[in-house]
Amino acid sequence: MLSLNSHPSGRHFLQIPGPTNVPDRVLRAIDQPTIDHRGPEFGALGRAVLEGAKHVFQTQAPVVIFPSSGTGAWEAALVNTLSPGDRVLMVETGHFASLWKKLAGRLGLDVDYIEGDWRHPVDAAVIGARLAEDTQHRIKAVCVVHNETSTGVTSNIAAVRAAIDRAAHPALLMVDTISSLGSIDYRHDEWGVDVTVAGSQKGLMLPPGLAFNAVSARALAAADTAKLPRSYWDWREMLTANAKGYFPYTPSTNLLYGLHEALAMLQAEGLPRVFARHERHARATRLAVAGWGLELLSLDASAHSPALTAVLLPEGHSADALRKVILDRFDMSLGQGLGKLTDRIFRIGHLGHFNDLTLCGTLAGVEMGLAAAGVPHRTGGLQAAMEFLARTPEGAAA
Ligand SMILES: *Cc1c(COP(=O)(O)O)cnc(C)c1O
Repeated sequence: MLSLNSHPSGRHFLQIPGPTNVPDRVLRAIDQPTIDHRGPEFGALGRAVLEGAKHVFQTQAPVVIFPSSGTGAWEAALVNTLSPGDRVLMVETGHFASLWKKLAGRLGLDVDYIEGDWRHPVDAAVIGARLAEDTQHRIKAVCVVHNETSTGVTSNIAAVRAAIDRAAHPALLMVDTISSLGSIDYRHDEWGVDVTVAGSQKGLMLPPGLAFNAVSARALAAADTAKLPRSYWDWREMLTANAKGYFPYTPSTNLLYGLHEALAMLQAEGLPRVFARHERHARATRLAVAGWGLELLSLDASAHSPALTAVLLPEGHSADALRKVILDRFDMSLGQGLGKLTDRIFRIGHLGHFNDLTLCGTLAGVEMGLAAAGVPHRTGGLQAAMEFLARTPEGAAA
């Protein structure tokens, strides 16, 4: 087997905010013979995952599954609902928001971009004001990232919905939940989202390779008149085949086995417990960062991400050098700074298949790495996290 790992023993710590660690149960589920995707057995698998996926989106609406990375689901959301030259309102929360904006521009959409400093969540009041000014209803969609994975900042989607409603604006609401679905509370139906975009490799604990769109009735209606070219991403052919559990082209059969198992795991734990677990681990991580005397990138305490934590290095110190020391010495991968944050931050992923000792191992690796790399800090971050975890059992009010 190809091994690039210079550490022959022990398990690699994959603590980037996606792809995340895949549970053994899921790996075993994937390890089955690939079956005929047009045969009778497949239909049962297809129906089970297409129905089961609705639970994590907290929706009754159809969920479409593409063999693709998350980026494909961004594209699918736009090409199924919009026409060339349509105006879309997007918000610069960080690197991922800027990539979705670039994609929209390449598709020929006219992006109205609300700029941001990459340290704050979406400001629903600014969205509301832009929509109120748009008396001609030229804006066809509002697109926001729920959990901005490049910064560790989570936005309030219910507040965005409320702002759209207050402006009585007909724009569709599209939300990227690629790093929040299955780890941060998210409600497609209750929040009136039209298209939810998701991927397999973060909170869903699967390898990369599946992408999702949850599609509201309004979004489906928009698909009937939307004029952007689409073929591979077309929801209509997909939904026709999905009705019987099948796909219009070859699906990622083995990843769907894995999805079936991951959905069973999330269902068994219960979404409220899953969300509480992520919040508790995020809180412990922030206590560690404070203990080290380092600065969080996220500046708004109400928007700190439950799924990952981005940490700024002291001026003049390299985050990439720190990450290299941690990888070489302790066999742990941490998330790098993306875009304008390159070399300035590192990101600790604490989402997906994760428990107290995974977190303690992760934080121990960071604390040892800070010392080994000569980054000025205080010791005691790990200790602060451990004390919090010990005195706050899962399920207790944090
Ligand atoms: C990971 C991520 C993406 C990109 O997904 P790919 O699977 O790499 O295409 C987009 N948005 C967010 C918020 C992400 O976390």
